[in-house]
Amino acid sequence: MTKLIKSLSEWQIIRREIDETIGFVPTMGNLHAGHISLLKRSIRENQQTVLSLFVNPTQFDNPNDFSNYPKTLAADMNIAEKLGVNWILIPEAEEMYPDNYHYHVVETALSHELCGRFRPGHFEGMLTIVLKWLLLVRPVQAYFGEKDFQQLSLVREMVRAFFLEVKIVGCETIRDVNGLALSSRNSRLTADAYQQALQFPKWLQSSLSVHEIRQKLEQLDFVVEYIEEYEGRRYGAVWIEGVRLIDNLKVPLNRLLLHDDT
Ligand code: AMP
Repeated sequence: MTKLIKSLSEWQIIRREIDETIGFVPTMGNLHAGHISLLKRSIRENQQTVLSLFVNPTQFDNPNDFSNYPKTLAADMNIAEKLGVNWILIPEAEEMYPDNYHYHVVETALSHELCGRFRPGHFEGMLTIVLKWLLLVRPVQAYFGEKDFQQLSLVREMVRAFFLEVKIVGCETIRDVNGLALSSRNSRLTADAYQQALQFPKWLQSSLSVHEIRQKLEQLDFVVEYIEEYEGRRYGAVWIEGVRLIDNLKVPLNRLLLHDDT
C-alpha cells in the first residue's frame, strides 16, 4: 500500500526506521509515461520506492509557468498505488524552505550554458531542492530522465562535488507515438500547437547543422531560444503559443565525423 506523507518532520521519523534500500524519484507531479518509466525502474531495482510530488517554487523563473503548472494529485496517487510505490511525499513549500531560501546550491559553469542562459536561477533552485531531497530521503539510487539532460548532468556533478552517497541513474527519454518527448507542459498545447510541436524533435534529429535547424524552426513559426551542440549532444529549446519545449539527443555519428558548424 502506498502511504502519503505531507509532513517532512513525520517523514524524518519514519525514515529512521527504514532499513531496506530506497530508490527515489523526484517529480513535480502530473505523472505521465516518462515519470512512470523512472518509477518502474526504481521499483525493480530497490526494496522500497519513494516518489516526491513537489512543484518547487524556487526553480521557476516565470511566475505564470509556476501558477499554471498542472496539478493532478488524485490521478498521480492512483498511478503510484498501481505501480507499487511505497511512499509519496507532498510537503508544503514552507516546510521545505525553513530558511526562506537563504541557502542555495550555486554551480558556476554548466548551469550558465544552454537553458541556464535563458532561465536565471532555475538550476540553483533545482540543485537546491534535489540536495534537500537527497538528504531527506537518503536513497541508494535516485532516478532522473535524460529528457532534462542538463539537469541530469548537473545533479551527477553535485553528487560528485559533495561526496553524496547515492547513485544517480539516468533514464532514456520517453516519447509519444509521434516522437514528441513527454512533458507535463504538453497538456497546455492546443491541437494545432501540438501538430506544430511535432516538427521540433523531427528537425532536431535531422542531419542539418544547428544553424539550419534554427532557420527551419523559425520558418515554421517557433520562437527558438537555442539549438546547440554541447559535448556530443544536441540540445534545443523552443516556444510555441506560450509553451516552452526542450529536447536533446546524442549527435548523430555521421555529423560528428563530418562537420564543424559552430
Ligand atoms: P518533472 O516532473 O518534469 O520535474 O520530471 C521529473 C523527472 O522525470 C525528471 O528526472 C525528468 O527528467 C523525468 N522526465 C520527465 N519527462 C520525461 C520523459 N519524457 N522521459 C523520461 N524522463 C522524463
